[in-house]
Amino acid sequence: MPRPIHATVSLSAMTHNLGVVRRHLDQHARAAGVPAPSVWAVIKANAYGHGIERAVAAFQAAQGLAMLDLDEAVRCREAGWVGPILLLEGFFQPGDIEIVDRYHLTTVLHDIAQIDMLQHARPARRLDAYVKLNTGMNRLGFAPAAYAQAHARACQLHEQGVLGTIGRMTHFAHADGPPGVAAQMACFAEAAGHLPGPASLCNSAALLRYPEAACLPGDEPAWVRPGICLYGASPFEDEPASARGLLPAMTLASELIAVQHLRAGDTVGYGGSFRAPAPMRVGVVACGYADGYPRHAGTGTPVYVAGAATRLLGRVSMDMLAVDLGPAPSARVGSPVVLWGDGGPPVDEVARAAGTIGYELLCALARRVPVRLAQG
Ligand SMILES: *Cc1c(COP(=O)(O)O)cnc(C)c1O
Repeated sequence: MPRPIHATVSLSAMTHNLGVVRRHLDQHARAAGVPAPSVWAVIKANAYGHGIERAVAAFQAAQGLAMLDLDEAVRCREAGWVGPILLLEGFFQPGDIEIVDRYHLTTVLHDIAQIDMLQHARPARRLDAYVKLNTGMNRLGFAPAAYAQAHARACQLHEQGVLGTIGRMTHFAHADGPPGVAAQMACFAEAAGHLPGPASLCNSAALLRYPEAACLPGDEPAWVRPGICLYGASPFEDEPASARGLLPAMTLASELIAVQHLRAGDTVGYGGSFRAPAPMRVGVVACGYADGYPRHAGTGTPVYVAGAATRLLGRVSMDMLAVDLGPAPSARVGSPVVLWGDGGPPVDEVARAAGTIGYELLCALARRVPVRLAQG
């Protein structure tokens, strides 16, 4: 028998979450009297830990798929995806351009070095591209003062037959809290608003909280780039994913492999950071940080045992963690444990207890954890 730990991925939850995004956008586009934006479903980092091929199957209704790894883009084509694919960081070296061409990928152009590389390219067909504007994130993109010139060089490459559609793109730094998107929106409008081509601005947080940034006025096509919400986790610290009707796509589950009876004063695990105030039953779960469970989660982190909400006790070890069986008096060896997801705590609550975000836990699911598909 393998270790009892496993992750379950629900394709129907992922499809449902895309539908939540779709309806939210449609509603706001209708109210604003503009065409509904198209969706790049972001499936970078192995689809936030859920698997590229599973994401291709679940997000068939998306207009496009976005990621940054060229290998993941090729896997999408091999899985039968014929729609647009966006490389969020573009290509990295001249040799990549051949792959962009062969697999018909849309590239981001965020640095003049990429435009220089294209100068010598002779693709079999025109390459679609987004010229990225740095509106304040200061990660990727041309500074506002350099944008017009970069865009003009992209237009020259269009005239030379190298580039096809040329879009405009930026990324928000504050969509999940104050000061919001207004300053970056104004920067985009000033530096890129007058230029033609599709526009793509919004990640999950921006499209959920500022749909006006997703449903831009004008005739140019708008595209949004949701990631985390498609997997049923929240981009916001102050709003659970359930408030938007999002369903968790990944469930991490295991079982109790031992039960310990502690006396008052006994401690649990490395360092003895939890000390029993009174006699208590403690369950030992086959799940540790080598499975991707966060080591920084401490006593009190929510966990479900045999359907009952309870808490983690003491330090997480490499392969095991301990839980309070007080709320689950009938639990014994073999009882089911849900670390996060369906039938357990939201991944965002576990993340908060560990001082991080749901994104990190989903992406960090360890390779050694077998993944099953949820039924239905
Ligand atoms: C990751 C990423 C997204 C998706 O972000 P979420 O917060 O997961 O919705 C969108 N755009 C870019 C450029 C990204 O890198």
